[in-house]
Amino acid sequence: MKKIQMVDLVSQLEKIKPSIDTVINEVLSTAQFINGPEVKAFQTELQDYLGVKHVIPCANGTDALQIALMSLGLRPGDEVITPSFTYIATTEVIALLGLKPVFVEVDKDTFCIDPASIENAITDKTKAIVPVHLYGQACNMNDIMRLSKKHGLSVIEDNAQAIGSEYTLSNGDRVKTGTIGDIGCTSFFPSKNLGCFGDGGAICTNNDELASKMRMIANHGQSKRYHHDMVGCNSRLDNLQAGVLRIKLRELDSYLNRRREAASYYDKAFAEIAEIKVPFRSAESRHVFHQYTLTLDRIDRDDLHHFLAKHDIPSMIYYPIPAHRQQMFASFGSGNTELPLTDWLTERVISLPMHTELEEEQLRLITQTVKEFVQK
Ligand SMILES: *Cc1c(COP(=O)(O)O)cnc(C)c1O
Repeated sequence: MKKIQMVDLVSQLEKIKPSIDTVINEVLSTAQFINGPEVKAFQTELQDYLGVKHVIPCANGTDALQIALMSLGLRPGDEVITPSFTYIATTEVIALLGLKPVFVEVDKDTFCIDPASIENAITDKTKAIVPVHLYGQACNMNDIMRLSKKHGLSVIEDNAQAIGSEYTLSNGDRVKTGTIGDIGCTSFFPSKNLGCFGDGGAICTNNDELASKMRMIANHGQSKRYHHDMVGCNSRLDNLQAGVLRIKLRELDSYLNRRREAASYYDKAFAEIAEIKVPFRSAESRHVFHQYTLTLDRIDRDDLHHFLAKHDIPSMIYYPIPAHRQQMFASFGSGNTELPLTDWLTERVISLPMHTELEEEQLRLITQTVKEFVQK
């Protein structure tokens, strides 16, 4: 049996190696490393895949979020509502831009930002909401969009973990996550569901005005060559990464199916175990399992983590310290924010190996070892 890994990118690459070699050689032979044809082609193909009007490739997912926030024309001290239970990048860019992150609760079942908690946090300084489709499942976007309309707030979806996921809107339309709010941001970090061989990211929107503004911001605020209309940054997806992403985008739906198959194997194996809660699926959202995350009851999460490690089975804690408890945000007084559910979850969640190359014998060993621990 192959060694079990959280993510097995080597085995995944083996299956597409010839086309990857071809595109890398092509890019090398033209030496068009920046703004090359692969970037333009990928942009169009991702627009088609997502069913969105504009895709703006950029250097990474964190930049995508930063550029999105910069495009809204917010002022220092404006408040942006975000979950505390997320990867730090979501919340960090808010503070970086001189805005105030306002941390709210997540839903106990979906791990995603809780609309009721958002509503409670809205003040006259609130300008935007950044929902995170955590672990690959969409937030309650119908309620979030209703709130944003009611209070005139912008919505930036952090779609870094959920690219390819679908969501059913209140009107019955089925759309891709990242295309529901004003702006959607994603990351092509290698271990993401659509990952490249380095850093990469993208922003998407159906809003023409925001699109051209974000394109400018990502390129030094430049409207035409050497004319800089606003303060921007330098954030590009390179041609080599775009070439890789074009190949992997064609595989994405089958990658997501592989993840779902692994998830159902886990589901079945843990169905009878009262101490283990498998990932909840909301009716509106199609989970793409960036992570397969259990919530444990009456068993010690860290003990399980160590027990698995002793048996050569990796597992991860996403995320052990929520954003509102990070030193980084101490000056915002966020340590005083009470988010009991978030704190509760950070002590009880554990993510099992999840990727496109999991084999049945690996899944069997993982689930048997977890069961052995529970029954100990
Ligand atoms: C990965 C990730 C990011 C940041 O993406 P990078 O490409 O690493 O900058 C942002 N938000 C979430 C939820 C993520 O998982």
